[in-house]
Parts: sequence; structure tokens; C-alpha cells
Amino acid sequence: AKAWVLKKHFEGFPKTSDFDLKMIELPNLKDGELLLESVFLSVDPYMRPYSQRDMKEGDIMIGTQVARIVESKNPAFTVGAFVIARSGWRTHFISDGKDLQHFPSSWPDSVPKSLALGTVGMPGLTAYFGLLEVCKMKPGETVLVNAAAGAVGSVVGQLAKIGGCKVVGCAGSDEKVAYLKKIGFDEAFNYKTVTSLDEALRKASPDGYDCFFDNVGGEFASIAINQMKKYGRIAVCGAISQYNVSVSQKGPYVQVPMIFKELQMKGFIVTRWSNRWEEGLKALLKWVVEGKVKCHEHVTEGFENMPTAFIGMLKGENIGKAIVKV
Ligand code: NDP
Repeated sequence: AKAWVLKKHFEGFPKTSDFDLKMIELPNLKDGELLLESVFLSVDPYMRPYSQRDMKEGDIMIGTQVARIVESKNPAFTVGAFVIARSGWRTHFISDGKDLQHFPSSWPDSVPKSLALGTVGMPGLTAYFGLLEVCKMKPGETVLVNAAAGAVGSVVGQLAKIGGCKVVGCAGSDEKVAYLKKIGFDEAFNYKTVTSLDEALRKASPDGYDCFFDNVGGEFASIAINQMKKYGRIAVCGAISQYNVSVSQKGPYVQVPMIFKELQMKGFIVTRWSNRWEEGLKALLKWVVEGKVKCHEHVTEGFENMPTAFIGMLKGENIGKAIVKV
């Protein structure tokens, strides 16, 4: 088996030289175990802060994959079946089945299995619970989302439309902006080319925003918070603008609009609702099958390109979910 390890803790933006490709000898299967091969692997922003906090140099990079069962000494798992695993950046691995997730029997053949890493997986659930439980969006409200063309953001916008909201999205290229319009965003702009973010946000929704689904943090968030409507809700989902910054930054500060507009700002991690994942996945799969939620994937071919795919996603090369096809 091949595995990517963290060779050196990242300093600022990750580099391909921070990773090492290792060969690992796998033992023979014991009773109850199965051998799996990764088919699709996910590259996600959380891997960047996680590596800093929870990994030692030499550890295998963490992550989720869709895997095929190659050999099985466990009657609950048949050879050839696909499962969802959390076994990190590896081509092959052994499991006793306890940590594996089956695809629901209702998953149609027409829906690509790779979507279990994106729209019908953790990122889709993040959009679902973030909007329903943190933003508490209501029909007729205006929702703002940044990193809007990404895995989470593109689902946020589409779910907010299904929920009867007006949706404004920001993304880092004109191609992404065109994609957002295509999938139903009411307003979208390229935050990299506008002369004033403040003006662009005001133009997109002159009355302000009821809900702000923040994937980016930093300066963007500070500016957007000033344009919230009274009693607005801010779901602090991610802070990708800060993950690769080694020098800590200062203000602008947001307490004044927080007080006078009586805003609510709440950080969350999607696993808080792990007891409701079935509900979320069922809803997301239904909308995908009905064509109400469109999915796009940015696929990098080849396990050897995992680090490049990860770095590319952090740089914003992806429209939709960034995945690697082994
Ligand atoms: P994306 O598919 O959105 O990929 C990351 C995107 O972030 C890039 O495509 C890029 O798009 C944007 N980006 C990168 N750097 C910056 C920057 N400096 N300023 C603004 N935008 C930037 O990733 P995900 O959808 O998987 O994740 C989105 C966010 O949600 C992340 O912050 C992630 O950590 C968070 N998250 C949180 C979860 C939770 O439980 N709280 C669960 C899952 C994700 P662009 O071209 O638009 O700049």
C-alpha cells in the first residue's frame, strides 16, 4: 500500500516538499477483517489546521475516502461493495468494519459514489445543519455565503434557495461567479476584482443580510458583519483566509455592530449533529436525485497527486468539491 505522510509541519502555505510518499506492507487478513482500496479521496480545508494541532511529523495525513472491498473475512461486507471510510491518504488499508459506513440502499446507480465525499457527505451536511440550526434561515430572508463556489458554499446557496431565501455568493474567479449564477444564486461577485467589498455587498443586497454563512473569516467577515440586518445570524463555519497565515492579525473589531444590531454569531462543527446525519443525508440525496441541488466536482487524477490537489484546493482552483480519483 502507498500512503502520504506529513513530512514537515506546514509553515504558511503547504508545499509539496512537506509531504512524503511511503510504501507500507499490509499483513494478511485475520478473521473479521477486510482489505479495501481507495477509489476516491477527499481533500478538505480542515486538514490544514488539523495537521498543525493534532499531527506529528511522520503521521499519515488524515482524510475520508470512498473505498472498494477487495478481500473480506467479515460476513457483513461483500467483495466489490463500496463503503465510506476515514482511513487517511492511503491506497489500501485493512479494517474490522466497525469504522466503515455503508452506502444507503436508496443510493441510485445514477448518483456518483464520489458525492459521498461532497454534496451527499460531510460538506453537504455542513451546509444543511449550518443553515437550519445555526443560521435558522426563514423564507424571504437574504443569505450571504463566501467561498460560495466550493463544496460547502455551493450547497449553502442552493439549500437557501430551496428554503425560499434570496442568496448572495462571493467567490474568487469570474468562472466561479458564472457557475454560481448557473446554479441559481440571485447575486454573485468576484471578491478578488471588486474595488470595494463593502460597496459590492451593499449593491448585491441594499437592505443588508439576515444570515451570513461564513467560510472565510478575517477581513471579509469583519466587513460583512457591518452589513447585517438587525437580529441577523452569523454561522461561523470556517476561516480559510486564516489557515495559512503564520503571523496573527489584528481587527477590525466587530463588537459595535454585534451590539447595536443584536446579532448572533455562532461557531460550529458539523459532527455536533452526528446523531442526525441520516436525516441530512436523506434530504440531500433526495434533492440531488430530483435535480434541485446540482453538484460539481473538481477531480485530480492519481494518488501521487494528493498533495497537489490539496494545495490547489487551498489556493481556490476548485469549483465544487475537490477530490482525487486514484
Ligand atoms: P472549498 O471547496 O470551498 O475550497 C476552499 C475554497 O476556499 C477555495 O476554493 C477558495 O475559493 C476559498 N479560499 C481559499 N483561500 C481563501 C482566502 N484567503 N479568502 C477567501 N477565500 C479563500 O472548501 P470546503 O467547502 O470544503 O470548506 C469551506 C469552508 O468550510 C472552510 O473554511 C472549511 O474549513 C469549512 N468547513 C467547516 C466545517 C465545520 O464543521 N465547521 C465542515 C466543513 C468545512 P475562492 O476562489 O472563492 O477564493
